Amino acid sequence: MNWTKEAEAALEKVPFFVRPMARKAVEEYCKKHGIGTITEAEVKAAREKFLAGVDEEPKPGEPKPTKVAIVRCDIVSETCPGVGCMNAWNKRKVHFEQYGPEAELIGVFTCGGCSGRRVYRLVKKLKDYGLDVVHLSSCMLMDGDYPKCPFKQIIKEGILGQGVRVVEGTHH
Ligand code: SF4
Repeated sequence: MNWTKEAEAALEKVPFFVRPMARKAVEEYCKKHGIGTITEAEVKAAREKFLAGVDEEPKPGEPKPTKVAIVRCDIVSETCPGVGCMNAWNKRKVHFEQYGPEAELIGVFTCGGCSGRRVYRLVKKLKDYGLDVVHLSSCMLMDGDYPKCPFKQIIKEGILGQGVRVVEGTHH
């Protein structure tokens, strides 16, 4: 698809870790609407839809894309910008291997600090946007520079109790 210079510049304003997903969303939006050249206006329209989570319902027979979120350790987030998680997601590697290109990452957030009080609330919120599965980031599971999360089980049960699947791990 053709992107104008202005459209590319508008896409650059999207945070880097969701940019590949945003590019895909814009292209899908344009394809659906029969638009051949992507201008700044299309980026804006697609972005509004994308951020509001109000994209059209799948047509009958069309599978609903899997909607994924990642929870990260708040302590580790002080020193880790999440590149490993994002890289694994973008390339559908390691614990994201199971997802096709249509899967959507709809939320990335930290637990809010020990004992992970924020997770239950944000998962509840994301359920309004069709959340299917939450990945606990690899930093919550591994002993390394930081000890593994002592509250993992409680966090996990708070997610499972809302009927949302949990996968342990992102890029390790
Ligand atoms: S609850 Fe676990 S994931 Fe959250 S800050 Fe504490 S150790 Fe990290």
